Amino acid sequence: MTSGGIQRRGLMLVLSSPSGAGKSTIARTLLESDREIGISVSVTTRPRRQSEIEGVHYHFVSKREFERLRDSDSLLEWAEVHGNFYGTPREPVEKAIGEGRDMLFDIDWQGAQQLQEKMGADIVSIFILPPTMAELQSRLHRRAEDTEEVIQTRLANSRAEISHWHEYDYIIVNEDLNTAFDSVQSIVKAERLRRERRHGLFDFVSVLVE
Ligand code: 5GP
Repeated sequence: MTSGGIQRRGLMLVLSSPSGAGKSTIARTLLESDREIGISVSVTTRPRRQSEIEGVHYHFVSKREFERLRDSDSLLEWAEVHGNFYGTPREPVEKAIGEGRDMLFDIDWQGAQQLQEKMGADIVSIFILPPTMAELQSRLHRRAEDTEEVIQTRLANSRAEISHWHEYDYIIVNEDLNTAFDSVQSIVKAERLRRERRHGLFDFVSVLVE
């Protein structure tokens, strides 16, 4: 990505939250409104929901295929979440970031930790909190895409997910979707301007003051 002849490395924007805190909606809105960001499509062993499209929301794979990818080092990170396996394919990420394209990761705290360890300086992490646990529960029910049993598992796991909030760079309480989305946009805008991400600044300034 260039601006004034200055190149920069792509951002790795990590979004985490308990299920139902609005993360997916925020991620979708960001992708629709900002053509400079692509999404990392994870592989998962979770069954496909009716509304989901193979290759868009996830690559749905068998447990065996997942293990093959994991064992051949094709995943940048992976984790077991709610009894299913999820992982981030390595190649598309390394290519995008090297070419200066930003990428969004809708992953849990375990994935965020692993990416932070491997790709530290490229990561910008945001944790989205629900305003109350009651609101989280009602959002999960409103979604109505999961069985009651799945909803209960997700609720029980929410507290564990939330306990990792302090490992993230930014915290957003999603009381109102538009406000939360505005905050995400502001973070992205500012992080794109960070000095450390921008190559060629030295040359640019040298010419500028010549
Ligand atoms: P869901 O089944 O609702 O799509 O996702 C469940 C959880 O798994 C969410 O918190 C989501 O962010 C997380 N997740 C999705 N893909 C990945 C991934 O590739 N790696 C990790 N660590 N978590 C993921």
